[in-house]
Amino acid sequence: EKVKTKSLSKKLVDFTQVDKELLPTVIIVGRPNVGKSALFNRLIQRREALVYNTPADHVTRDIRDGIAKLGDLRFQVLDSAGLEAAATSGSILGRTADMTANVLSRSQFAIFLIAARDGLQSMDLQVGKWLRKHAPGIKIVLVMNKSESLDESDGSLAAAAGEACRLGFGDPIAISAETGLGMSELYGALKPLLEEHMFQIINDEATLESSPEPEESKLPLQLAIVGRPNVGKSTLLNTLLQEERVLVGPEAGLTRDSIRAQFQYDGRTVYMVDTAGWLERTKEKGPASLSIMQTRKNLMRAHVIALVLDGEEVAKTKRSMKHAEIVIARQAVEEGRGLIVIVNKMDLLKGKQKSKLYGDFIKAVPEEIQKLIPQVTGIPVIFVSAREGKGRIAVMRQVTDTYEKWCLRLSTARLNRWLRKVMSRHSWKDQAAQPKVKYFTQVKARPPTFVAFVKGKTVLSDTEIRFLTKSLKEDFDMGGIPIRILQRSLS
Ligand code: GDP
Ligand code: GDP
Repeated sequence: EKVKTKSLSKKLVDFTQVDKELLPTVIIVGRPNVGKSALFNRLIQRREALVYNTPADHVTRDIRDGIAKLGDLRFQVLDSAGLEAAATSGSILGRTADMTANVLSRSQFAIFLIAARDGLQSMDLQVGKWLRKHAPGIKIVLVMNKSESLDESDGSLAAAAGEACRLGFGDPIAISAETGLGMSELYGALKPLLEEHMFQIINDEATLESSPEPEESKLPLQLAIVGRPNVGKSTLLNTLLQEERVLVGPEAGLTRDSIRAQFQYDGRTVYMVDTAGWLERTKEKGPASLSIMQTRKNLMRAHVIALVLDGEEVAKTKRSMKHAEIVIARQAVEEGRGLIVIVNKMDLLKGKQKSKLYGDFIKAVPEEIQKLIPQVTGIPVIFVSAREGKGRIAVMRQVTDTYEKWCLRLSTARLNRWLRKVMSRHSWKDQAAQPKVKYFTQVKARPPTFVAFVKGKTVLSDTEIRFLTKSLKEDFDMGGIPIRILQRSLS
């Protein structure tokens, strides 16, 4: 058994061939000025003109990501500038810790960066302590940058390395992001870790199942409310916020003005992502277009997008969605966001509530929406009246339900039991045509992403992928969730 899996892992871990979405994620963490950006730039093989020098700059910087190339290794790399400001300043608030947890949940590995010539500083110790607390499932590699500035011959480099051991993350790997010194040692340290990770993803059910999973669905939820002018977004917003409204300042890892408000629902933090007036402003030209692009980016960063429609108008025009609304809903789905539709102003249709017309309406709207957005099945549609202050529970229940499904992780064992059932359920024309899916595994949540490992040179057709997608959605009740299925061949 062992021999068999060994040869399998060797064949599969050709990082240059792995889909981008499957690559392991490595976050670079360290106090300001240790050279995180310099290392990031070297790894993604881009020279940036601007290397920030003052710690103050870090507060305003975003988390950057890119694909690192290190020999034949490929991985996703995150530059955590901005994170360290939160980790080390005295003014950390709980919600900042939430945000950083959000970022850390995207990584499996961390490069803990220190600087050789500066000696060990108290801030380094703080970062180490913080990592231990917030990154329990993450493998950490200690790396000592700026090593070219210390002499190997007089023992000062060895002394710095010895001091760094005090952090408790083992011997540091000495590098210089500036000159490229030590990059092959870094490769040597990362390669077995990343290979092991890939190997587990594709092959080792037992390890996958026993590995502790972060409770991702408990992380803060980012919700965006969008819609054309006058559909009742602001009214709905106030209904959702009630008296709990808290204005939020800039946060690490988020654009300064992307968060509009924060509230608690059912023990969970909800951030309202500011997308105010997105549809209003799309028609404007000129200087406004830059901010449109920004709001659009914020919108597509939200976990759940709630699209609000004016129920009275829908009833009058007998059309659920207009062009702009269809565009935004489709884009939300393409970007992998959870989508829900809210039909507002239902109080205006109250008089007709007992009529057949009303019943038809409740039935027809979701059907039409489904036809307009065929990319994802089972989009939840809820009917509310924001003016009457009704709908908070209905909306928030649907939002959290969608979010939880968006975060869903299914174990490999469960998926493979499911796969066998599905394969027998479908009547394949002839036995030979049956796709040879050997394993099925979930590699990512938020949104759920699966990999079907197919035997030999078999490639799943679009129809087969659609069949698997539809079955997954039905069997695991994932309406409105844009799930993805990738395929890899096992030879
Ligand atoms: P960050 O704050 O951790 O992102 O650090 P930066 O990448 O902005 O680098 C901080 C300073 O250290 C800059 O002035 C860089 O030029 C310098 N620096 C980065 N890497 C090295 C290195 O390997 N050797 C030396 N001598 N300086 C470096
Ligand atoms: P926004 O432009 O989408 O933010 O819409 P507003 O929240 O400003 O609402 C536009 C208008 O619709 C206002 O006059 C609201 O009072 C009204 N409105 C909002 N929600 C409801 C509702 O549930 N029922 C009714 N009848 N009117 C509503």
